[in-house]
Amino acid sequence: MIINGHGRTYQSWGRYPKVKRQNVVRIHWRGDSLDLAHINGSVLPRGLGRSYGDSCLNEDGTLLDTTPLNRFIAFDESAGLLRCEAGVTLAEILRLIVPRGWFLPTTPGTKFVTVGGAIANDVHGKNHHRAGTFGRHVTRFELLRSNGERLICSPDENADLFRATIGGLGLTGLILWAEFRVQRVAGPFIAKEQIRFSCIDEFFEISADSDERYEHTMAWVDCLATGRNLGRGLFMRGNYTRPKPIPRQTTEPRSLFTMPIQLPAFVLNLMTVRAFNSLYYHSQLPKRTFRTVPYDPFFYPLDAIHEWHRLYGAPGFLQYQFVVPYAQDRTAIKAILTEISRSGVVSFLAVLKVFGDVPSPGMLSFPRPGVTLALDFPFRGQRTLALLDRLDQIVQAHGGVVNPAKDARMSAASFQAFYPQWREFAQYIDPKFSSSFWRRVTQASHE
Ligand SMILES: Cc1cc2nc3c(=O)[nH]c(=O)nc-3n(C[C@H](O)[C@H](O)[C@H](O)COP(=O)(O)OP(=O)(O)OC[C@H]3O[C@@H](n4cnc5c(N)ncnc54)[C@H](O)[C@@H]3O)c2cc1C
Repeated sequence: MIINGHGRTYQSWGRYPKVKRQNVVRIHWRGDSLDLAHINGSVLPRGLGRSYGDSCLNEDGTLLDTTPLNRFIAFDESAGLLRCEAGVTLAEILRLIVPRGWFLPTTPGTKFVTVGGAIANDVHGKNHHRAGTFGRHVTRFELLRSNGERLICSPDENADLFRATIGGLGLTGLILWAEFRVQRVAGPFIAKEQIRFSCIDEFFEISADSDERYEHTMAWVDCLATGRNLGRGLFMRGNYTRPKPIPRQTTEPRSLFTMPIQLPAFVLNLMTVRAFNSLYYHSQLPKRTFRTVPYDPFFYPLDAIHEWHRLYGAPGFLQYQFVVPYAQDRTAIKAILTEISRSGVVSFLAVLKVFGDVPSPGMLSFPRPGVTLALDFPFRGQRTLALLDRLDQIVQAHGGVVNPAKDARMSAASFQAFYPQWREFAQYIDPKFSSSFWRRVTQASHE
């Protein structure tokens, strides 16, 4: 059964670009004869819209809202294999598996994403150096094509379509359900260590010392620091644990605080962000702190503030994430941080992490061995766009790539240079499927 959706806004998480005309069809049952061919124009699957840019938008076309596809199908605890519909969220999965001693094989920084969205963007987490991407743990899924075909895809069956769909940005068909491995863990808490580092070279030293011994690693970086403090920040690393006695803090997700208003755009300016960064950096007095914390605030600190994207005001914001190979990492990160601080454009959040060499199965997947930096920029028109174009050039000159799943602005030339395999990938796109992102980066016109 297909029902037209109403009453919800279907923008992206960054709320840039804004979409004016877009139909929505809600998908309720995976077993029905879903007649995609008769929907007017192009279609694009949609999860919870936690993608920052336009890979989850389809201006002048139709979104297939999969959130009603929210049923569990099977959980084989002997093998650690979970099968569920594509609209089931990571939050729902955690509620089922954590009390049984399991955890997600890897998780992005929000649990409010669907399994379909996690596969289509081949998401990564703080344990990429150990576990690789989410797609790496997917054993099979069912893909509905617009000609009515239903294909089981796995590394052995329809293997090309399997590789194209993982990280395939929703363009190869509609994932109806998926099966993937979950991970046995010591406990639902994290033994967390946080280390203050005074410059980017120190980050690399701590990182090299951490990846062997810690399952989860990442760092917050103050991108307004300059000179000998360039790239200073706080490094976080941790392992699963079950402390004895169990601390009083619960492992249950915390209650949500809703961002009450949309802040005026001027609130986030160079002065306020500089002051925040300095306070945050100096808030940790000792060089190292140790704490055992529940998994929720460790993995999902931003989930505690419902609708936190309103912090950026009506114009919205852009996330810019790139990865550069190890051989170029220090020069590239320094060049990018210098360019940002020179530009006077503020980045409110910056997260640095070393990716490992566990290969992604996806044809178009973004993660690869190297160092990745993710930055949030309030949208301030041409100034922001021009800066990001300059960052593209630096990334490209250092052999890196920009994450298409988070992008809202890169040029067709940049995308095609970053992902020369896009033409091979394009053979697997379902002719009925398209997105605002794909039309932009291939400069294809709307059908
Ligand atoms: C606070 C925050 C932190 C984040 N941290 C990370 C991180 O650490 N690592 C990371 O990789 N990402 C991260 N992200 C991005 C987010 O994890 C991804 O964008 C994720 O894919 C969003 O899932 P969704 O269900 O909201 O999908 P949507 O954003 O709605 O869609 C994402 C893509 O999946 C496709 N899709 C959705 N459902 C299906 C389906 N059933 N069949 C086929 N295609 C489908 C869509 O067409 C679209 O191309 C973060 C986002 C936020 C807001």
